[in-house]
Amino acid sequence: MTHRIYNFNAGPAALPLPVLEKIRDELLDYRGSGMSILEVSHRSKWFDDVINEAVERTRRLLGLGTEFRVLFVQGGASLQFCMIPMNLALEGRPVNYVNTGTWSTKAIKEARIQGLDVRVVASSEDRNFSYIPRDFDVDEDAAYLHFTSNNTIKGTQWHTFPDAGDVPLVSDMSSDIMSRPLDPKPFGLIYAGAQKNIGPSGTAMVIVREDMLERVPQDIPTMLKYTTFAEKNSMFNTPACFVIYTINAVLQWLEDEIGGLAEMEKRNRRKAAMLYDFLDASDFYQGTASPESRSLMNVTFRLPDETLEQRFVEEALAEGLGGLKGHRSVGGCRASIYNATGLEAVEALVSFMKEFERKA
Ligand SMILES: *Cc1c(COP(=O)(O)O)cnc(C)c1O
Repeated sequence: MTHRIYNFNAGPAALPLPVLEKIRDELLDYRGSGMSILEVSHRSKWFDDVINEAVERTRRLLGLGTEFRVLFVQGGASLQFCMIPMNLALEGRPVNYVNTGTWSTKAIKEARIQGLDVRVVASSEDRNFSYIPRDFDVDEDAAYLHFTSNNTIKGTQWHTFPDAGDVPLVSDMSSDIMSRPLDPKPFGLIYAGAQKNIGPSGTAMVIVREDMLERVPQDIPTMLKYTTFAEKNSMFNTPACFVIYTINAVLQWLEDEIGGLAEMEKRNRRKAAMLYDFLDASDFYQGTASPESRSLMNVTFRLPDETLEQRFVEEALAEGLGGLKGHRSVGGCRASIYNATGLEAVEALVSFMKEFERKA
């Protein structure tokens, strides 16, 4: 038997086992081509089918109408911090951002670099980004409102999206895309680095509404324009073929084995509830996110002191539970329980936590 651990990494993160098995089984001879998918031309029928399937599955899973385009752009979520203001800002109008932690802060910085009128309309910095702000005003003339739907580092998540009226929402969904159904209507653009919930690292998925593409300025570099990707089905240049192939396999697993995003959300809720219920009942472990803002994807917690936290992470790994160290910027512990991490992994974690507390 191959040795596999329970993987709680924040990203790159666990992939569904059936997906890894499929990749292995198809690797040497992709659908009778006599080649690996790693070796075929991106202009071939084989790869064309893969990227089109990935786009169609995304449409079905998220219920996207024909007004949305699904793109694959290299450079991760971080390049999107730059491309969004570069492509979607409007002359003489502000751009609005909500600051809920590290990733939002970085997105704001990239918009400011471009000299835009950046207004941070809400922030949770006053309480160390432990909650999601509520009841704030959005500029009526804003070009867009940007927010981070799930805060991977601080362990908070928007459970209902902000209401910005007619202002299009732009959201970084890197760490919770495809974890639950969503209503795409208010969104002008959704983006996600693939390596948390939908695949390996190497590309971002960008879902953009067609009317937003009319904003793209002529005078920006070709590879930084959304229109370049939209006009060429993400193949103006060589895309991240193997990453897109893997994303397609993950989406197939979501559709055919899980049965869609409503069922996925149900499972994610069960997993998170099991862990949070345990944290709430314990005096030894302390959850760090405000209860009403807790993430279903990244569960952050502390132990009584840092020495214990270090021992916790090490002993967990020795027991086959990996990736429990908090982000280096905040310390503590974090269990990332994305789609691919099953209930049995959370059960194993909770029983390890009980035992660790008993011995401490
Ligand atoms: C990981 C992460 C990023 C950074 O993604 P890259 O693909 O490494 O650029 C951005 N936003 C969120 C919410 C993340 O979790």
